[in-house]
Amino acid sequence: MHIKKTRLLTPGPTPLYPPALHAMMASDLHHRTQDFRNVYKAVVTDLKEVMGTSYDVVPFVASGSGAMEASVSNLFSQGDKVIVCTAGKFGERWQSIAKAYGLTQVVVQKEYGQVVTPDEVEAALKANPDARGVFIQASETSTGAMHNIEAMGKTIAKTDAIFVVDAITGLGTMPLKIEDWGLDVVIGGSQKAFMIPPGMAFLSVSPKAWKHNETSKLPRFYFNLKKEAASAAAGESSWTPNTSLILALAEALKYIKGIGMDKLVENAQLLAKATRHSATALGLELFAPSRPGSSITSIKAPAGMDSGKIVKGFKERFGMIIANGQGTMQGQIFRIAHLGYFDFADLFAVIGSLEVILSANGYPVEFGKGVTAVQQVYAEAAGVNQAVKA
Ligand SMILES: *Cc1c(COP(=O)(O)O)cnc(C)c1O
Repeated sequence: MHIKKTRLLTPGPTPLYPPALHAMMASDLHHRTQDFRNVYKAVVTDLKEVMGTSYDVVPFVASGSGAMEASVSNLFSQGDKVIVCTAGKFGERWQSIAKAYGLTQVVVQKEYGQVVTPDEVEAALKANPDARGVFIQASETSTGAMHNIEAMGKTIAKTDAIFVVDAITGLGTMPLKIEDWGLDVVIGGSQKAFMIPPGMAFLSVSPKAWKHNETSKLPRFYFNLKKEAASAAAGESSWTPNTSLILALAEALKYIKGIGMDKLVENAQLLAKATRHSATALGLELFAPSRPGSSITSIKAPAGMDSGKIVKGFKERFGMIIANGQGTMQGQIFRIAHLGYFDFADLFAVIGSLEVILSANGYPVEFGKGVTAVQQVYAEAAGVNQAVKA
């Protein structure tokens, strides 16, 4: 108990894949050289492969929000009508960006922990046939809920609107069939399921979205999709790229391809399932029970306990950094992440620690009950039969 390893267990930044971290040491190279072009091209090709699309994938030097902004400034014009689906802090970010660029918003808003339904999107499109775009989060990281992107995409595909999906924590935690489901823009970020530090974002662009780009009149300079896509095709970025992160991503993508993107998704799904079972076993309530996603699981603190006490307990007792709620959810919930480089050994530790922390804060816990639930999900998935005493 005197040694506490620091463990970063938040939904971004996420735990780092060590070979990717080591690869960053080779950053003493120049970005206008063939050596670097080879790496950059491989990264773009591998991103397309793991995202499962032949559409252009355009990288940006930015955190995820930079690519969100780019999808607005490059694909719309001032006054364009758009439908913004919001059910959490990241949905609110779409509203802020759309407002900053002078788009006319039709907001479909749900309470934190709830989701916007495909029927609501369809109704909004019917009522606003002139809508040029629909914005949403695949996984709303602030609440843990996930949207039914498939059903929405198939509806939106029949209209002139483009579907812009913030999949920054959706990629690697849920299936996203970009071309089959009509997803025109799918945005990812380096510090989520891609297992490397923050500072890089990327987005896929459909032919329908490129059509929007041709008529879009909003001002832009640094985040220029068309320019960046042309640069990427030549193995370069328009400006000085974050070479260290490109080297890291090359390594992480090799690993993800080796496992398979579907297995990375299944990994997160199993960890999420085990977390839900353990929360229930401990008598805790889930915050987004109707459509819980697999990037994170949001759990309500027990009645009368500030979730900050739990977050603090993780840090002070075990050196673990876990996420509190954001905005008005702060103090109400705590969030356990599953995306990227998380495994069952992490989760045994997290739930075992949670039991101690809850108990230390006066919440009655039968030690082992939550951990048992995680073991059961693991055993079932791995085909381990529990030995029974004779
Ligand atoms: C992390 C995240 C973002 C991007 O945030 P940045 O801090 O700009 O990387 C956007 N949307 C969702 C759903 C996220 O989880």
